[in-house]
Amino acid sequence: MTTNSKPKFAMYWAASCGGCEIAVLNTHEVILDVDANFDVVFWPVAVDTKYKDVEAMEDGSILLTLFNGGIRNDENEHIAKLLRRKSKILVAFGSCACEGCIPGLANLCPVGELVHTAFNTLTTDNPHEIYPRITFDVPEGELHIPKLEKVLRPLDHVVDVDYYMPGCPPESHQIAAVIDLVVKVLKGQAELPPKGAVIGVGDSTVCDECPRARNVKSINTFRRIQEIAPVDPTLCLLEQGIPCNGPATRSGCNSRCPNAGAQCIGCYGPDEGVLDYGARLISAFSSVIDAREPEEIERIPGRHPRPGGADLSLQPGGVAAEGEQGSMAGKMRLCANRSVHLLHERRMT
Ligand code: SF4
Ligand code: SF4
Ligand code: SF4
Repeated sequence: MTTNSKPKFAMYWAASCGGCEIAVLNTHEVILDVDANFDVVFWPVAVDTKYKDVEAMEDGSILLTLFNGGIRNDENEHIAKLLRRKSKILVAFGSCACEGCIPGLANLCPVGELVHTAFNTLTTDNPHEIYPRITFDVPEGELHIPKLEKVLRPLDHVVDVDYYMPGCPPESHQIAAVIDLVVKVLKGQAELPPKGAVIGVGDSTVCDECPRARNVKSINTFRRIQEIAPVDPTLCLLEQGIPCNGPATRSGCNSRCPNAGAQCIGCYGPDEGVLDYGARLISAFSSVIDAREPEEIERIPGRHPRPGGADLSLQPGGVAAEGEQGSMAGKMRLCANRSVHLLHERRMT
């Protein structure tokens, strides 16, 4: 651990894939600005600082901490609280820390099922059904491993967060811009945004940055991208029947996925002012459907499995009528309804 007088910088990964760390390293020469302007006191992927070293630091002594990953186990939670105490500015860095992102999909299963899948499935040779234990006695003493919590939580469900920087991972040019801003603030040349702001993003939607042409405005089926060959390289993916989240997703990535031929899956989160991301997408998807009769509306969405196993649901709100829960229209309405209920619950808490 160094003892120079530069402002202190920390970065930590909780339940994450490591991509956010790589994105910071991928800022090329800007990483030298980090070194020139900050004393990197804690960054497990790059610096061998121990937890006890962080615990020994004065509270509030780290100027800036970028925290990536969600809170999945008691170690994640302990370090989140520790870094909150030690940091003046704590940034939820990347979609996992902001919203749960890919590790958050595990919230769809009970913890026991997750552990069973990881340690005792066809791809795992575990004939004696041996599972990890939280504590284990060895001749040298007692070993501990982190305890999984029931669900993964975003960072701000555990500690107070100063800023949010979405993206899976945040784009390197956005990270460079944020580092540049902080350096300017340190030099008295700029001011920090208000607490709670979403930083390192654009001020519109992915569609607004996307160069693909929008002109068809009507489709008669939704399909997975791999079911369409060839994909038109210049036409809007949504207008080719590929569910693209661009219309409701915050800009800032320069429409990276549609540029590469893949639909946006929304890693930058909802655009400013979008209270219900699902409802906004349902509205956008509905707008390109070419159908007038109920039978056509039933047919067009098709069965489009989502990561959680839910079907793509497009019909505007309303409670599913008796007997229609199994139908696509019923699922559509239930989906729209669920969005509203979630929104209501969020407002009530
Ligand atoms: S936000 Fe994406 S890149 Fe970053 S840790 Fe999570 S999954 Fe990985
Ligand atoms: S829906 Fe997707 S492909 Fe179409 S313009 Fe928006 S971001 Fe681009
Ligand atoms: S296009 Fe969508 S999924 Fe791809 S990087 Fe941008 S916001 Fe994320």
